[in-house]
Amino acid sequence: MGEQLKIACGVFGAVNFQKQPIFPYIYWGLRAQNHRGHQSHGFLTYNNGKFHVYRSLDLVPKIKTSAIQEWFGRLPGHVGIGNVRYTTSGKTDEKSLIMGTQPVTASKNGFKLAVSFNGNVVNTFRLKKEISKEFPGFSYECDADLICHKLLIELIKGKDLASAVETCMEEIEGAFSAAGITKDGKIFAFKDPHGIRPLCAGHSEDHSTYAFSSETASLDINGFERDFEIEPGELVTVSKGGLKREKLVNNRRKAFCAFEFAYFARPDSRFDEKYVYEIREEFGRNLVRENSDIVKDADMILSLPETGNDSALGVHEESGLRWEKASRRHRYVTERAFILVNRERYSTIDKKINILAPKVKGKRVIVTDDSIVRGDTTKVIVEKLRKMGAKKVYLFITFPRIIGPCFYGIDMATYGQLIGSKHSSEEIAKIVGADAVCYQSIEGFVGATGFSRDQLCLGCITCKYPTPLAQKIADEMKKRFLEGYEETGRLYEIAEAVEKA
Ligand code: SF4
Repeated sequence: MGEQLKIACGVFGAVNFQKQPIFPYIYWGLRAQNHRGHQSHGFLTYNNGKFHVYRSLDLVPKIKTSAIQEWFGRLPGHVGIGNVRYTTSGKTDEKSLIMGTQPVTASKNGFKLAVSFNGNVVNTFRLKKEISKEFPGFSYECDADLICHKLLIELIKGKDLASAVETCMEEIEGAFSAAGITKDGKIFAFKDPHGIRPLCAGHSEDHSTYAFSSETASLDINGFERDFEIEPGELVTVSKGGLKREKLVNNRRKAFCAFEFAYFARPDSRFDEKYVYEIREEFGRNLVRENSDIVKDADMILSLPETGNDSALGVHEESGLRWEKASRRHRYVTERAFILVNRERYSTIDKKINILAPKVKGKRVIVTDDSIVRGDTTKVIVEKLRKMGAKKVYLFITFPRIIGPCFYGIDMATYGQLIGSKHSSEEIAKIVGADAVCYQSIEGFVGATGFSRDQLCLGCITCKYPTPLAQKIADEMKKRFLEGYEETGRLYEIAEAVEKA
C-alpha cells in the first residue's frame, strides 16, 4: 500500500533576531517532518561569517539533556537551515548517502552559499555540464548540489540574490523548494515556477523568529504561526521587519503535487486553508458516493495502516457502516515500510500489523488506504485478512490509479514498478486477491483538495506532466516500456539519454 513510497526531503530554516541560538528550532522542525526523509539528516548554522555543519545518517536523533550544550557548541548562531532526506537521485550506498546529505554548501571567489532543498531536478545533464565548467572536479552527490552551485554561479556573475534565483527558476526544470543562507548570513527561500513541492513561511508570536518549513506541522511544534505557503516562482527573504515576498517568475501553471494530500503530508499539516486530515476525510466520503453498490455489500470498515484512518472516518460518516479497529500495530515495530529494501519490506509489513481474527471472521470488509504502487504490501494485507476468515475484502483507495512515474521527488521512477501502469483495477483486484479495488476518481480527488485541476500536478495518474522535459522522458519511457524494454535502473539514467538527444 502507499507506505512503500519515499519522498525526497523535508526542509526547515529559521532566523532569530534576538540572537538566540537557532539550533533548537531547527532540531524540532526536522523531528516533526522526519516522515519526509529518514535516510539522513543535517543541520547548518551561520555564525561570525562561518557555516557550521552537522550531517549524519538515519533519523534525527533524540538528544539527551546532558548533551544539549555540546550541540549548541557544535551549531552556534541565530540563523540556520536543516534537512531530512531520502534519496530519489544519486547513489544509495552508505558513503554516497552521507556525501549527499543536506544542507549542502558551495564556495568560490569569496562567495559562498548553503542550501537545503526538497524536490528533484529533471535537466540534470545540462546543469552538471555547466557547473563542471565553472567548478572543475565538481562532484555531484544530490540535486541540492545542482541548485546550490547554479545559484552561486549566478551570484559570482555579479547578480543580486533575486536575479540569481530568477535565472535558476528559468533554467532549472523540475521541482525545487529550497531554503538557503548567503555568505553574510541572510536566510531566504524559494520555489520552482510550478510550486510542485510544499514550503511555507511562519513566525513566532513575538516576531523575533521567522521560519521556512516543508510542512506546517514543523511550525506548530515550535509554537509558530503560519504566514503563507510560498507561491510558485516566489522568493522570500527575511529582515527584522518581517518577510519580504517577490514573485520572480509568472505565467506558469501552478502544479502542486497531488500525492502530498493522499499520502506524504502529515494529516495535521495544511498547504492552504484546509488541513490534510479534512481532505482525507472527504476522500472517504467520495469513495462511498462513488461505490454505493459495494458499500451495500459490506459489513464493516477497516483502516490499514494509519494513513487510511482519516479516509476511514469519511467512509464511516457517509455510509453509516461500523468502523472496526480490527488490527493492532506492534508498538515497537515502528519502521515505515519504505525504509526497507524489497525483501525486508514484505516481512516487516507482515510483522508489524496483527489482525484480530474474531472481528473479521465471516465479515465483508472495506479496507481504506491511500494508494497502491507495486501492490506487494496490498497483497500481504489481503492475504492476512483472508487467513483470519474475512469473507469479502474490498479496497477503497483514495489516490487514483498510479499509471506513470514521478520526476519531481517521489520514488516512483519506472513504469515497470507500478502495478497500475499495466493493469486495470479489475486485474489488480485479482492480483492482490481482493474482491474489488475501488480507486477514487480524479474528479472526486481534485474536488476534495480545494485546488482546481490546473493547480495540481497529476502527472503520475494522468501521464500529463507540468514540465516539458519530464513529459518527453515519460513518453519515451512509455514507448520503450510497451515495447518490452527492461527497466533495470532508475529512470534518470535513461532520462540523460533523452535530455542529450
Ligand atoms: S507525478 Fe505524482 S507524485 Fe510526482 S509530483 Fe506529480 S502528483 Fe506528485
